[in-house]
Amino acid sequence: MPITSQAPRDWIDGFLFVGNHLALDFLNTRLVLADGPKELLPDVDALVRWLVASNLLTWPKGKAVVRKWRDTPQAPVLLRELVKFRESLRAVVVRQEAGFSASDAFIAELNSLLKRHPSVIALQWKGKELGLETAFELEKPNDVWAPLAIAVAELLSDVSPVRLRKCEACIVHFLDTSKKGSRRWCSMNICGNKIKVAAYQKRRRAAAKKMRRGR
Ligand SMILES: [Zn+2]
Repeated sequence: MPITSQAPRDWIDGFLFVGNHLALDFLNTRLVLADGPKELLPDVDALVRWLVASNLLTWPKGKAVVRKWRDTPQAPVLLRELVKFRESLRAVVVRQEAGFSASDAFIAELNSLLKRHPSVIALQWKGKELGLETAFELEKPNDVWAPLAIAVAELLSDVSPVRLRKCEACIVHFLDTSKKGSRRWCSMNICGNKIKVAAYQKRRRAAAKKMRRGR
């Protein structure tokens, strides 16, 4: 049951989707942009927009959810807990990228989330083929835990850690699904060009220096 992010586009409604995995796209809701660190989930409205952008919620159902959630005391509590969990996940992903496993404390926390927010699995037609899909109903704020917990569990159990990588030029993490396993940056549009231009300028400076010496 691979959980992948849905879009080939980099940005959807102000959120980055280059992680190739829902758990990593969730992790990438905190970025460091040219003008400094940027929290993409500053409030409940932003969270709902991210749920829509990541396809966990669809309109018009999303609209009803926003109306229902907006004034509940649980929604801001959930957001705080999600952001906290996201940063624990960041520590785990960084550890995995360095060749270490997830901590026992994180695994226990995740198992507790999975137990408290179980997912419903159902057979669904995908064209002519039947697939095992996880069905989510985000009726109340805490229902968001089910898809996220299972995505993180899948990231830790089904994904090869050597394919987990941080962009060479920013804090974005991604799952390298390239054939050769040689993806180096979050996106060609965001950091790829930056790295290529920097490398080109470095080569040019080196060549100019060599020419001056040769004179
Ligand atoms: Zn990057």
